[in-house]
Amino acid sequence: MSYLVLARKWRPKTFTEVVGQDHIVQALKNSLKNDMPHQAFLFTGTRGVGKTSLARILTKALNCEHLKDGEPCNECDSCLSINNGSSIDFQEIDAASRRGISETKELLETIPYLPSSSKFKVYLIDEVHMLTKESFNSLLKTLEEPPPHVIFMFATTEASQIPATILSRCLQLNLNSVSTEDLMAQLANIFSKEKVKYEESALQLISEAANGSIRDALTISEKIISFTEKDIRQASVREILGIPDNEIIQEILINLKNNDSKKLFEALDNITKDSPIKNIFLEIMELIKNISLGQFSQNKKIDFNKELLELEPRSLQIFYQLCLANLEYIEESPDPKGVLEMTLLKMLAFDLEEKKNLTTNQNHTVNLNWPELINKLNLNKVFTQHLMHTNAILNGRDFLISLPNEREEMIGEENRSNLEAKLRDYFSIHDLKVKFNSDYDDSTSPSKINEENKKKESEIIESRISESDSYKKIVNELNPEIKKFDTNS
Ligand SMILES: [Zn+2]
Repeated sequence: MSYLVLARKWRPKTFTEVVGQDHIVQALKNSLKNDMPHQAFLFTGTRGVGKTSLARILTKALNCEHLKDGEPCNECDSCLSINNGSSIDFQEIDAASRRGISETKELLETIPYLPSSSKFKVYLIDEVHMLTKESFNSLLKTLEEPPPHVIFMFATTEASQIPATILSRCLQLNLNSVSTEDLMAQLANIFSKEKVKYEESALQLISEAANGSIRDALTISEKIISFTEKDIRQASVREILGIPDNEIIQEILINLKNNDSKKLFEALDNITKDSPIKNIFLEIMELIKNISLGQFSQNKKIDFNKELLELEPRSLQIFYQLCLANLEYIEESPDPKGVLEMTLLKMLAFDLEEKKNLTTNQNHTVNLNWPELINKLNLNKVFTQHLMHTNAILNGRDFLISLPNEREEMIGEENRSNLEAKLRDYFSIHDLKVKFNSDYDDSTSPSKINEENKKKESEIIESRISESDSYKKIVNELNPEIKKFDTNS
């Protein structure tokens, strides 16, 4: 059986069947109640969200002989001829292939003629932003005074490229990207009617990969159905779409938590055979995000190994930043796997260093961009001003603020405990203590060094990690394969 028609077969035929665009459907139904409808509609939205499908349904509704509650009947001659593409009063034009002035003039010449059998003659111009400037100009003349029997519908992914003079004459309807939940519900509905068996988790993967597009969701489904004989399992969807095995992604992070570099790289080898490196990066980041959310919100559903919740919250934040900072090198690197390995190595080293600091708590000083941090903390204005004339370091769990003598009294207990609470949140150190002292050195106060602190946090962290003992130790222990990517040793 050919599934090449899935998207066409399940194209919505009524407003009710349209997925994820309730606000637009409501607006259109209201517009249909008026005797004289708008004469130009502009449907905007990303690809595959249903712009032309909605335009066709609206056309049917405008011309339907038995309109019921704003829905076309799909049974009268007019509805049937639009559904099967034979209506002479409904013209569909693809502006991508017919963008020139002569083609537009040819089209506009047919406008004065009355519709042959319907109430309205409807012109649907898809990808309308592709029209040339001259074409838009001649179209504008018609739009300024359209004959009462003519209605224009435009569809575009690029509303910003349409001249303002045209925009101002259209009822603009912005379609949403379809949510993953709506896509899943729609796929479940279609699969059960098509007698296709599926795993719920497989639907989720397909819907996420479709990225808000109902058409993409169906095209991907079609591809998967053709490989899987109407039984869609999570594992085969992963394989076909190149999505890394979630179990192995978890294994990587568990080995990271246990600081087991050997097992970590074994797990990585298992996964890089089948999946593009970029997908592995993205999946690791997704899991890091979910662990962080899981640590902070009790309502969050935990669909991963609970052991991962034991990762240090601060480590997780740094892991995410390291992934993000290195992700951009993948495309241009001749060795994307090397980039991933180096990133994991840095994550491993950071976690080791972090644990050492938390357990020994001795003379460990964290470099801070204090002025930036002050601004992030969102304290009251006067207090913020005072802090700008202080220096600060994080030493183990002590947050030491040095300030000129005369300022200490101005700060007050309430401000101090408020600051402490915010710093505890920020560093995820629940017993952090704010302490004041008066060895103040004006030359290094934030107001002086603001300008110098332009380096990105991730860069600073990366260089600190590369210099750390943990990092050097892991590089030494691992095979020479990894060593060769390391420029520091
Ligand atoms: Zn009808």
